[in-house]
Parts: sequence; C-alpha cells; structure tokens
Amino acid sequence: MVAKINVLPNEKFNRLTFIRYGENKGKNRGDIFICECGKVIHTSVCDVRTGHTKSCGCFSVEITKKIVNKARMFWCFSYTRIHSLDKYDWSVF
Ligand SMILES: [Zn+2]
Repeated sequence: MVAKINVLPNEKFNRLTFIRYGENKGKNRGDIFICECGKVIHTSVCDVRTGHTKSCGCFSVEITKKIVNKARMFWCFSYTRIHSLDKYDWSVF
C-alpha cells in the first residue's frame, strides 16, 4: 500500500507540471507530468515532489551542455596558447 500524496492538477514542481495520477501499469508506469519543454513524462509524484526528478531530462542535459562548453572553452584556450607559444619567435631574446 503506497500512501497517496496529495498533489493538485497543474501544481508545478521545478519544470514539471502535474497532470494526473497514472494507472501504474504497463510501460507508462507512473504519474503524468508535462515538462516546460512540452514533453509529457511518466514519473512518480514522490520523486517530483522531493525534487529527485526536476524535468523530463532536458534540465540535466542543459547543465551537462554548460559543463561541456566550459571544458571545451578552457581546452581550446589552452590549446591556442600552447600553439602560439610554439610559433613564438624566441630568437628575439
Ligand atoms: Zn523537458
């Protein structure tokens, strides 16, 4: 017996808006939410309410992208710097 958590339709948690409780059977197990990006997902109200699930997955993708971009920027910057040092004409000293 799972305790029913009272969540109202259209109640919003992070990026997810609660639509209705799911039937908990088949592959669409879980309660129904719609993400800010427009994607409908099936997940547990419990996970969403506790903040375990914040979006359909697009939120974590964005975070990952930001980290990747930062790493790429750093790498490219270092690469360019090393490269320009190689090309530097040290004979002037
Ligand atoms: Zn989304």
